[in-house]
Amino acid sequence: MTHFHQLADAVLAGTPATPEDALAVLRADDAELLSVVDAAGRLRRAHFGNAVKVNYLVNLKSGLCPENCSYCSQALGSSAPILKYSWLSTDEALAQADAGLEGGASRVCLVASGRGPSTRDIDRVVDVVAALKERHPGVEVCACLGLLQDGQAERLRDAGVDAYNHNINTAESHHDAIVQTHTYGDRVDTVTKAKNAGISPCSGLIAGLGETDEQLVEALFALRELGSDSIPVNFLMPFDGTPLADTWELSPTRCLKILAMARFVCPDKEIRIAGGREMHLRSLQSLALHVANSIFLGDYLTSEGQAAEADLEMIRDGGFVVQGSEEDLGQRDGRPVGTAIRRRGAGTDVLPNA
Ligand code: SF4
Repeated sequence: MTHFHQLADAVLAGTPATPEDALAVLRADDAELLSVVDAAGRLRRAHFGNAVKVNYLVNLKSGLCPENCSYCSQALGSSAPILKYSWLSTDEALAQADAGLEGGASRVCLVASGRGPSTRDIDRVVDVVAALKERHPGVEVCACLGLLQDGQAERLRDAGVDAYNHNINTAESHHDAIVQTHTYGDRVDTVTKAKNAGISPCSGLIAGLGETDEQLVEALFALRELGSDSIPVNFLMPFDGTPLADTWELSPTRCLKILAMARFVCPDKEIRIAGGREMHLRSLQSLALHVANSIFLGDYLTSEGQAAEADLEMIRDGGFVVQGSEEDLGQRDGRPVGTAIRRRGAGTDVLPNA
């Protein structure tokens, strides 16, 4: 039995992983990768079976943010050529959410750029949530609106918001190198406000920000301490026009080990493969589902993801099912859509697929 299976046994028996255990997972040799995935996968299946939670992002307000988070394409000073718009109307937001829910999502994440919401902004989100819940009574709604002021979490809770996302992003010891317009303490305070209001706290991290291995471990243990119910693990997408544009620190195997480490440290929490999934995990995305139990469907806030249908195909090809779906997608849609006849390359005037 490998060290990683012994660790899984201990965690399953109720002994939490230590920072040393987490570092050992992060620093596992690539030759041990399948052993790491196998062991972390036992924890995933013990708590979540073969279900994948599918989340859908609706960017209610894009760009134009006064904060200076150096990884963010929406930040002050970013010249990334992203879509910039102010608040979607309730009808526009509903139309976007409908598409995600029809695609199989069970949670809609309503996101707005900015330091934090005004009272008017909370009013707008309350309207969207009311309309969304009326149209889709079973939907879970997560709001992600920045730093919260006193009383705002309670208003969101009363409107039916189920979860509030505010990522700590990185270790406290690395935070000030990444952003200067707010503090790590500000971020923790907002997660705590949501939790104290009875809203499920969703808080995660971004890997690849120049942090050390020890700082990644520090961030994960901070999330465990904070009691984050869902942990989005983002992999830095280095947007042109941002200070981290040329920061490429991640490999697919490293990303898989980061997800496995998150599973060992927080075995019963929703570990979500978030932004940068396609770019950094690449052909290991489906393997990562054996460790993580949640993804975003389709596109991200300011960048495109792979086609939603490709996400769903990946889920069913791996023998997983969409959480909340009555049907096993493998039974419903298990057949290939048909053989595509080659119409490019030799014998045509179209470039070959190589
Ligand atoms: S506060 Fe949010 S939207 Fe604004 S720069 Fe930071 S991460 Fe981007």
